[in-house]
Amino acid sequence: MFDKILIANRGEIALRVIRACREMGIASVAVHSTADSDAMHVRMADESICIGPASSTDSYLNKAAIISACEITGAQAVHPGYGFLSENEAFAQALQDHGITFIGPSAEHIRVMGDKIMAKETAKELGIPVVPGSEGGVASYEDAIGVAEGIGFPIIIKATAGGGGRGMKVAKNAAELEVAFRTARSEAKNAFGNDEVYIEKYLQKPRHIEIQVFGDGKGNAVHLGERDCSLQRRHQKVFEEAPGPCITHELRAHIGNICAEAVAKINYIGAGTVEFLYEDGEFFFIEMNTRLQVEHPVTEAIFGVDLVREQIRVAAGLGMSFTQDDLVLNGHAIEVRINAEKLPNFSPCPGTVRTFHAPGGLGVRMDSAIYGGYTIPPYYDSLIGKLIVHGRDRPEALSRLRRALGELIIDGIDTTVPLFDALLAEPDVQNGEYNIHWLEKWLDAQL
Ligand code: ADP
Repeated sequence: MFDKILIANRGEIALRVIRACREMGIASVAVHSTADSDAMHVRMADESICIGPASSTDSYLNKAAIISACEITGAQAVHPGYGFLSENEAFAQALQDHGITFIGPSAEHIRVMGDKIMAKETAKELGIPVVPGSEGGVASYEDAIGVAEGIGFPIIIKATAGGGGRGMKVAKNAAELEVAFRTARSEAKNAFGNDEVYIEKYLQKPRHIEIQVFGDGKGNAVHLGERDCSLQRRHQKVFEEAPGPCITHELRAHIGNICAEAVAKINYIGAGTVEFLYEDGEFFFIEMNTRLQVEHPVTEAIFGVDLVREQIRVAAGLGMSFTQDDLVLNGHAIEVRINAEKLPNFSPCPGTVRTFHAPGGLGVRMDSAIYGGYTIPPYYDSLIGKLIVHGRDRPEALSRLRRALGELIIDGIDTTVPLFDALLAEPDVQNGEYNIHWLEKWLDAQL
């Protein structure tokens, strides 16, 4: 086992990893930008080291500075969290070249899954059902029309290098396609430095269902069921739950086994998420994320496992601590993402937190790096906390969430908490009857 791990991240996920390290008796090293000297992850880690100025390009994305930090502190492994360098093939490779363990999959798996066209082709070869669409990239409008007429409108144009819900354009007919194709390419070029796009059938009322997988890198893998992340704003998740309200035991076993077998076949190591759209009883692969997800705690709650601990174990060459048969689903969990944003426009509103009181009690988990007196810097993501509740069933989880939101106090800044109070009063949310468009429609109707 490692003696010391460096966490190449900030915020709640850095705390999440530090906590796992502490429970495992591993020393932790925090890295931070000059804007984060007062951050909780710096205070909580055993050691900390400044790696650059406020801008994340110069700090949290600065590979050379992070590798130097490992060498200076003697850290043997790096946990990348999510975002930043977590799905950066060059970073994983550079660490390996320096004899430092990357706590995540191989550079090769990151590369393949990071290219959405290659990911889809690989998924297909591994027996995973995919969304109907173009065979690879689409280079011209004429080709795009051909593909669209073949699969039928509406279609969605997506960037092969896309991520974070950006670079997607929907077209309902040929005229719209012409504009959408051109703008999608130029937006992709600007955002990702790669203008390659591909086309998929645009599903009208799907749910976003993702399967958590975990491999030991030696041909063994398990699945930990699904998460339903259909409540999204601008293709970004805001509310996640497990199990999915519409997924039966049979469906879970069916799609879960397909995913576990697929990742076992490629000797995948560590945590991964296979994302699907689910409509009329069918699953359609959209992408695979080769990292720990923001919403991993709902899976931890219902299976009673620590996914970060498991990531560290397999990275150290120890096997997984559970088999598929050990994984028994228990109850229902919900997570809400608390952002420092002002409603109704969700405009970022960093500032100073006057008072912070986290909810507690049975079945409540609050993962957050804020504290009373903390000033949220304007340079990074607006996620400031995740509230996760676990109950014996969905109604119990919902009432626990309502109760916990009532106890939560974050004074001094605007947050997305009022959104969740309002959502919990909605019959569709109470009944689990929503798809990926529900939240956008509901938000439009509020104005
Ligand atoms: P990103 O990597 O940018 O997050 P994804 O491919 O994971 O992009 O898609 C993000 C979201 O966009 C999905 O959860 C879904 O809401 C929507 N989406 C993606 N593909 C389709 C599709 N073919 N039809 C309908 N909605 C889609």
